[in-house]
Amino acid sequence: MSKKIKLIISLCFLIILGISYFLVTRKQERLYQVETNIMETSSYVESVTSIITNSTKLNHILKKHIEEQKIFFYDSIKNTSHVFLIDRDELNIDYKFELLDNKTWSVSLMTSMTGPSFTYPYYRMDCWTWDVKEKKELNIESIVPPTLDFSSIQTQVFEEIKKECASCLSEKSFTKIFTEEFKTFEINETGVTFYFNPFLFEDDYYDIIPISLEINHLALSKEGKKKEETVTKVPHSRIIDPEKPVVALTFDDGPSQYTEKIIRVLEEHEVNATFFILGNKVVAYQDILKRSVQNGNELGNHSYNHKWLSQLSTGELVDQIDKTQKIIQERIGYTPRYLRPTYGSVTNRVRNNTNLEIALWTVDTRDWKIHNIDRIVERATKNIEDGDIILMHDIYERSMEALKEIIPELKKRGFQFVTISELEEVKKLRKLQNEN
Ligand code: ZN
Repeated sequence: MSKKIKLIISLCFLIILGISYFLVTRKQERLYQVETNIMETSSYVESVTSIITNSTKLNHILKKHIEEQKIFFYDSIKNTSHVFLIDRDELNIDYKFELLDNKTWSVSLMTSMTGPSFTYPYYRMDCWTWDVKEKKELNIESIVPPTLDFSSIQTQVFEEIKKECASCLSEKSFTKIFTEEFKTFEINETGVTFYFNPFLFEDDYYDIIPISLEINHLALSKEGKKKEETVTKVPHSRIIDPEKPVVALTFDDGPSQYTEKIIRVLEEHEVNATFFILGNKVVAYQDILKRSVQNGNELGNHSYNHKWLSQLSTGELVDQIDKTQKIIQERIGYTPRYLRPTYGSVTNRVRNNTNLEIALWTVDTRDWKIHNIDRIVERATKNIEDGDIILMHDIYERSMEALKEIIPELKKRGFQFVTISELEEVKKLRKLQNEN
């Protein structure tokens, strides 16, 4: 074989390799990212979690919807005088995302507005069953089999609503709302759940009414759950000297699209940190979280969807913590030891309703508010003392950039990086040494 032919063959081989690598990486490309935006002022707290998909049109619809909810919220609270911090209003938006089949997504946004400006809590549910190929929203007509008479579904749904709230909807209003164009529904394993929002009701009833119907042979169906593998923590060779200064880096409100990069930065510097995560994002980022745990990082509980824990009823409070523990155990095979309450607000009711230890912080970088990387670095390195717990957020790129400078700077000053559990261990060891 001549040299030229050999060269051509190897070139072809390289091209094929390149194309298949491209296809494989494309296939693994993330369908969506989850984004949480948290805001806190003296009159309100706000947490909005939504998704960014690779469909620009759907992203635009979701964004517009969130903007509308925010405008309604700011408008509702503008005339209220907020005297105490504990009496602030709260906006919370949370998402659900399901892949129904290869070309259909189900996206829901749940909105709640509570606090002194609202006589009743304001709840609403909005759903989009999205045809990825056609780039359009589907209604009931497109999912119910043609063999099924729509009026029979109507009758069943109306009967169920009457059981929940007899005076909420007259038959006349119901038939106007619940047409084949109705879109506020989610598909589940056995059928459909329709959601009726309080703003549709004629009565003062402020809860959403969900009506689940078993319908066979839907045009779409939800795939059954796959069993998840769990991870075990790889024993770590890191040695911490309790006689030398320690500092704990902590990241709240993730995981997000930046978490993986942050984990990589920690990995490069051979340090570990603690991530106080939200339960509603565990499924979307479970691979990254597993890797984080394998690397020796610690996971903590930061509620399910960033509701203001100390303001919730005891039932809801327990539910926020337990749901998050459960999903981390199921998906990551890991049990968090610590709870960091949302907005750093700890009450006796929060303490008394969890077995988890409460972990706050001693140094706030304010990276959620400060955009300048140098200032974040300064806040995280200036006046740092042995045993400090630094608060950062793994939902901003700037925090990741700041981290690249924070670690070497603190290392230079002799600090060892520990997780919250390790920090507790160090404290215990030191106490023992002092006693002896
Ligand atoms: Zn938070």
